[in-house]
Parts: sequence; C-alpha cells; structure tokens
Amino acid sequence: MAEILVLVEHVDGAVKKVTLELLTLARSLGSPSAVWAGPGYSADAKSKLAEYGAEKVYVADSAEIADFVVAPKVELLAQLVSSASPAAVLVAATAEGKEVAGRLAIKTDSGVITDAVGLGDGFVAEQSIFGGGVNVRSKVAKGTPIVAVRPNSTAPEPSTGAAAEEQVSVSLSDAAKAARVVERVKQEKGARPELAEAAIVVSGGRGVGSAENFSIIERLADTLGAAVGASRAATDAGWYPHQFQVGQTGKTVSPQLYIAAGISGAIQHRAGMQTAKTIVAINKDPEAPIFELADFGVVGDLHQIVPQLAEEVEKR
Ligand code: FAD
Repeated sequence: MAEILVLVEHVDGAVKKVTLELLTLARSLGSPSAVWAGPGYSADAKSKLAEYGAEKVYVADSAEIADFVVAPKVELLAQLVSSASPAAVLVAATAEGKEVAGRLAIKTDSGVITDAVGLGDGFVAEQSIFGGGVNVRSKVAKGTPIVAVRPNSTAPEPSTGAAAEEQVSVSLSDAAKAARVVERVKQEKGARPELAEAAIVVSGGRGVGSAENFSIIERLADTLGAAVGASRAATDAGWYPHQFQVGQTGKTVSPQLYIAAGISGAIQHRAGMQTAKTIVAINKDPEAPIFELADFGVVGDLHQIVPQLAEEVEKR
C-alpha cells in the first residue's frame, strides 16, 4: 500500500487530536507513516500513534529541531519525500502546518492544497477557497501531493498500526537556521479546548452587547465542553480577546457544531466557520444572513435563549 506521511502535531510530548484525524484519513488512502519532529517523543506518543494506525514512525527528536522556526520540519519532510517517495504528505491546516506545506511544496517542486476539508481517491481534495466563499475539488498535478487538512474534518477512529520506529537525523542547512526561537511564552491554558481544534464552538457577536455579557456565552460553552469564539465586532469592541476571533482575519474552525449567538453572518465571519458540520444561529433578526447558512435557527433575544439552553444542557 502506498505510504502516506503524516506530520505529527504535538505539545509537551502529547500527540494532538488533529494528528489522529490525519492518521484516520491517511488510512483510507494508503499506509500512514507518522513523522515526529522535535523533542518529547516517548513510549506514550508511540502507542498513541500506533492506536490510530501509524504503520511506521519516523522519529527526528533532536532538540535542535525545536530551536528554529518551521524550516527544520520542512527539511525533514523534504528528506523523507526524497528517500521514501510517499504517495502524499498530510499536515494539519494550522498556521504552522500551512507554512510547512507551502515551503515543502517549493522545496520538493510539488503542488500543494491547503484548507482541505476532505480527501478521496486519487488524492482529490475538497477545498474551501476564496475566504470560504466557494468549495472546490482539487488535485495536485505535479510532484508529491502535499495537503493541509483542516482540524475536525475527519472523525478520528482507532485502528492498530505497527508503529515501526525509524530514527532519522536531519542536518539543517544554514537557511533553516535563519530564524532562531529565542523565547517560548506559554499561553494560559484554560479548561476549554483549543478554538481551532474544538469539536464544538460557541461564538458571540455584537448582539452579546458587552464584555460582561460574554459570561453567558462562556457558560453555554462550558456546559457543552466547547471553545468560545467571537466575531470581529466583538473583539474590536474589546469584549473578548482577539485570539478568539473567528473569520477571515481570525481563526478558521471546522467543528462538528458551531453556535453563533448575536452574529449577523458577514462573509468575513463565514470564511472562518462555514465548513462546520452543523451550524446553529441565535439572532433576533429573522432576516439576518446567518440564517441562510444555519442548519437550525432560533429567532429571539440571545440573552434569554442562551442561558435557557445552558440550563437545559446542564440538566442532562
Ligand atoms: P453585526 O453585523 O453588527 O451583527 C450583530 C447581530 O446580532 C445582528 O444580526 C443582530 O440582529 C444580532 N443581535 C443584536 N442583538 C441581539 C440579541 N439581543 N439577541 C440576538 N441577536 C441579536 N468579522 C469577523 O467576524 N471575523 C473576521 O475575521 C473578520 N475579518 C474581516 C476582514 C475585513 C477585511 C473586513 C472588511 C471585515 C472583517 N470582519 C470580520 C467584519 C465583518 O465584516 C462584520 O463586520 C462582523 O463579522 C460583524 O460582526 P457581528 O456579526 O458580531 O456584528
């Protein structure tokens, strides 16, 4: 079976959920090989990768890889593309993953597809383009297909793989050492899931009305185990931090469930959330454009509906 490389996303040695999704997707197309770059590899990481079907794990766990930004991962993958001739390379369509994908395409003289929300036979990708305004099916026509897949596009399913380990060393070029990491600032980790990876997102917009009122959005999110998002109107008003902005100039999310409360549904907001599997809109204006997109809509005042919804969920 054709080998498919999957770049592992990990934090503090733990494999991130998006990698399990990519392994699941890769299994439907060939034989997945995980590529671990940077320190932190452990028996736990290996068994997690095995549990989701990695037949092989390429391990390049030198500390040096983490000393430089993005480029070492690209050099490692380029080396593996040359030595293993995989059928495709899958990375997560995160900010870093997309940069890796673009640079790798240049380095290997291959085509790249970003923001894929599905990948089928012949590596034909479903892709969300033009700020999410259009969905197209695309295929790489040159070199090794490099595909950046959005988190939450595939449901991760376990299936045992051999996870045969192969140590790889990568000697970094001077170009790869051009930007050195000087400091890592740990983001405060709340109890909520990471926005870009969350399976459920509850977002608030201008209709929320104030920073204080975002507590009702947070409460609903917490009852659902969801992440909190916000429209740009809400972040620009200073009601919620910019890092939680969803949309063209914010984060792109593809959760199973997206709840938009007091958000009109501007094209720039849609760009960041319209590939969500199920969209629920709560808006007092029945003509709000978000209802064109929503699978379920509630017309009414979010200040009443959101707390009622949280209460109902808490009862269950
Ligand atoms: P509004 O459009 O003002 O909508 C508020 C909604 O709340 C209305 O539909 C109203 O009926 C409803 N409402 C009010 N009160 C209540 C209530 N009590 N109960 C229920 N509903 C209520 N926007 C983003 O979100 N993300 C981006 O990344 C982004 N990038 C942009 C990039 C560019 C270059 C530009 C030009 C714009 C960008 N925008 C972005 C802004 C975007 O165009 C909209 O202005 C923004 O999304 C509007 O946010 P909103 O829906 O919260 O506010």
